[in-house]
Amino acid sequence: MSRIGFIGLGIMGSPMASHLARAGHEVIGHTLDPKAYARLEADGGRSADSVEAAVKDAEIVITMLPNHPQVEQVVLGPDGVFAHAPKGALLIDFSTIRPESSIALAEAGAAAGYRVLDAPVSGGQGGAEEGVLSIMVGGTEADFETATTIFEVVGKTYIHVGPHGAGQVVKAANQLVVGGTYALVAEAIVLMEALGVDAGKGLDVLAGGLAGSTILERKRKSMVAREFTPGFRIDLHHKDMGIITDAARQADLSLPTAALTTSLIAAGRAQGLGSLDHSALLKVIEKLNGLDEK
Ligand code: NAD
Repeated sequence: MSRIGFIGLGIMGSPMASHLARAGHEVIGHTLDPKAYARLEADGGRSADSVEAAVKDAEIVITMLPNHPQVEQVVLGPDGVFAHAPKGALLIDFSTIRPESSIALAEAGAAAGYRVLDAPVSGGQGGAEEGVLSIMVGGTEADFETATTIFEVVGKTYIHVGPHGAGQVVKAANQLVVGGTYALVAEAIVLMEALGVDAGKGLDVLAGGLAGSTILERKRKSMVAREFTPGFRIDLHHKDMGIITDAARQADLSLPTAALTTSLIAAGRAQGLGSLDHSALLKVIEKLNGLDEK
């Protein structure tokens, strides 16, 4: 069992920290919204009013933050993790950020005496609540082995995919597939409904065939019911499509479906849907077809 400083108790971080506390780890959490502390404390963890207080005795530091500016502030800032955690501590960054930011973080960590893994996750809020996330890990094999005691509590599939940044590259690929799938499911719903077919029944059949996916399993009912409480916000997926676009440019690749999906998600944001779940791509497709006033 480890002493863990856990920074970022949002939609994903809160259930992950609770799982770790319930598994017997000593978890001290810090986040911007203090409402998140009640759950952690009920599950046996403690709260801290600063990064310093959360990490000063930690063997393992976990970050689950929105994007690279927050990660950089929390880890590299003057009041941050590398200023206050004991030397030799292992930082596991579960956030989805740019691969180059993860590489820079690992280099800064090595210079300051810390070990770093990029370990973005997939599985959404449901996967976090159930402790069955998929985790794609970049860094050294030795640090990956150390972190398996954490991964086995919050995840079901965890794979060391390569050196620093490789976890984020795999996560970019994941977000490409997820975004594109949502766009296609949205179009399928609009198509079936326009032709007078019950989309709920239609998607039940799709879920059992070759078109089946975790998205259809977990989200088809809420999509047909037009329930878009996040979950994973369109704003965050917009961030991830930016990471994909940059990565494709760096590699001199043309990824046309990625470009289209990026544009649809940007349209959702422009339509004021940024704080809704990314399954609200359905609303974007409806608007494209003049169906949004129905
Ligand atoms: P969220 O906005 O719900 O949570 C982020 C948390 O970070 C908030 O609790 C906020 O208070 C905290 N925070 C922000 N800045 C901070 C700071 N300076 N100091 C301390 N705490 C700070 O976001 P989320 O949905 O939990 O996503 C977190 C990360 O996980 C993102 O990178 C996202 O892309 C990724 N992700 C999310 C999902 C999902 O379904 N929500 C799935 C997979 C990956």
